[in-house]
Parts: sequence; C-alpha cells; structure tokens
Amino acid sequence: MVSTSLTTAHREDFALPTHHPPRVNGDRHSTSFDRALARHGLSPLCRNDTVDLQLNLGYLCNQACTHCHVDAGPRRTELMTQETMNRILDWCKQHGIQQVDLTGGAPELNPHFRYLGETLTRSGIAITSRCNLTILSEPGQNDLSSWYARHRVRLVCSLPCYTQHTVDQQRGRGVYERSIAGLKALNQLGYGDDELLVLDLVYNPGGPHLPPSQARLETQYRERLMDEHGIAFNRLLTLTNLPIQRFAHQLKRSGDYARYVGLLEQHFNPDTVPALMCRTTLSVDWQGRVFDCDFNQMAGVHLGDRPSTYLWDVEPTALPGQPIAVRTHCLGCTAGAGSSCAGALVS
Ligand code: SF4
Ligand code: SF4
Repeated sequence: MVSTSLTTAHREDFALPTHHPPRVNGDRHSTSFDRALARHGLSPLCRNDTVDLQLNLGYLCNQACTHCHVDAGPRRTELMTQETMNRILDWCKQHGIQQVDLTGGAPELNPHFRYLGETLTRSGIAITSRCNLTILSEPGQNDLSSWYARHRVRLVCSLPCYTQHTVDQQRGRGVYERSIAGLKALNQLGYGDDELLVLDLVYNPGGPHLPPSQARLETQYRERLMDEHGIAFNRLLTLTNLPIQRFAHQLKRSGDYARYVGLLEQHFNPDTVPALMCRTTLSVDWQGRVFDCDFNQMAGVHLGDRPSTYLWDVEPTALPGQPIAVRTHCLGCTAGAGSSCAGALVS
C-alpha cells in the first residue's frame, strides 16, 4: 500500500541533495524523519559529546557492491592526502581523541593508510578499521592481516550472509570464498578469539527489507561459520541499508524506493533515537570536511546543515547541544531495532 506520506517521502529524496536549497534545522517539519520525531513528541536531534571520529580515507574500493551507500568502486579517485591526515592527527592529539574509525571505500587502498595507522597507534589512539575481507588477498596486501594484528586494530568486516549465493550476489562473484579465506587467516592470528584482537562481522539485508534480530542472527552465524569453516568471531552487527547512493538508485530502478521508505517510516522506533550514532560521532571525508555521519557525508549534507566546515576548524567542546542535519534517509537508523556503525541500537 502506498500512502500519501510515502509519496511525499519519495519526492523529498528525489530533490536531494544538490539542487535543493539546504534545509536548516529550524525547519523541523521538512522531512519524513522530522515528522516521525514530532509524531512521537521527540525533540529535533542534537549532538552530545563527541566520542568517535570516523575518517573516510577515500572512495576507492576493490569491490562495487550493489548496496554500497558510498558508491565506492575501483574507478573512484578521491583519496585523503598525507597532508590532510597530518592535520587530522594534530587535531586528534590537541583534543585528546581516544578512538578513530577508519572507513572508505576500502581504507587500506589509500597509499598512506599504514602511515596513518602507525602514527595513530604511536599516539595511543585505538583504531577500528572497516575491512571488506577481500582486500586481504589483493596484490600487495599479503602482510595486511599481520599488520592489523601487530597494531591491535579492531576489525569490522562485511559478511552479509553465511551462504555463498547471497554474498556473491550482493558483493560480486568469488567474494564469499575470498572472505572465508580472509576470516580463516585472521583467526590464525588470534582474531575473534583474543579480547585484544576483535573481529566483528557485519550483516546487511540483500534487498528492501529490515534486518532480522541481531542476537538471533548472531547465533546462526556462529553455528554455521564454525560448523562449516571452523571460523570464530566476536560479535555480529546488523545494519539497515539506507536509501542513498547505489542502493537508492537500485530501489528507484526497480520501483521499490517509495515502498522501502514507507517501510522504514512505518517501523520508526522512538526507543532508538537516544542512541543514534550521529549524537556522538563526527564523520570526516577525504578532504577533511566534517559531517554528522557517514551517510550524510555521502548525501552531501554538512555538519548541522551549516556551510562546509573542516575538522581543524571544529572546537569539540562547542558541539554538544548543536543541531544534527537530518533527511529522509535517517529513517533507516530508527526503523525496527535501529541501525548504526555499531549495529542495532536496541535489542
Ligand atoms: S560496500 Fe564496502 S566493500 Fe562494497 S563497494 Fe562499498 S565500500 Fe567497497
Ligand atoms: S543518517 Fe542516521 S546517523 Fe546520520 S544523521 Fe541521520 S539519524 Fe543520524
């Protein structure tokens, strides 16, 4: 069933982001997400203290997955320079940042990836890296697994199913086999079994539907991966596909876009709102510009809907209480059990 509000949501996102004047946070009823908050008597989103810094090192990737919200792939050329990394490193030291999340594309394909990782480690800053697993078997990356282990990097690795068919369909032919090989190599180094070498897996749906229960799916993953491959991991994180970039294009091509946004809207869960990751995360793009989250970065929606700002111009103590820029795609973070880079937001 397609309701009036779905049709409205459909129009909103077709208008985003470049040809529409930026919406300011004072305009609280301009998106389906704003209206969902208002219906539940919730205030507009505001930032808390910043805990996580997520650095996008560029959009280059060795894969081109169908659901990718980055539109990453082998032909992308945007990559963070070493000079930008140095400015970010200085900012992290100046403001006592304790943990950094590295993402991309495939962050490892940035030529300065290891420089950044080693400098962060020397500065006592803990690293999480979002690794697609197939990168571990790319030419020139033979020692990447042991580099990760040596620097105690927490790994968050995509594996959208424990079956070959689903993984290959979503991520490309041969990806499942290479992912399993990568997980086995990481297990041999102690990943997934050692509290200092954390290996978390990421599930996201293969189509326009919500993820199942994170706890139940984790049990299934644990059993299947151990029984069939002897693979161990720490936690499974379930993520909802947000309707932006490649996934949005796919939905529009198949005529499912409005229905999917409607599904997210119908499953709006107010209990997820206090835990939304944009409250405590700053997302930084390859040029050093800041956003409320990686999704807003990809949608071209700047921090708090303000003009483009660079990380080195941000004073973190001024951020708590500042408005967060929201759009219709935010409904993906609040549907069902919620979704974030750390998985479901409520059990
Ligand atoms: S989803 Fe991850 S692995 Fe797939 S194309 Fe995007 S960045 Fe690369
Ligand atoms: S997409 Fe999600 S994390 Fe980003 S601003 Fe919207 S609700 Fe927050």
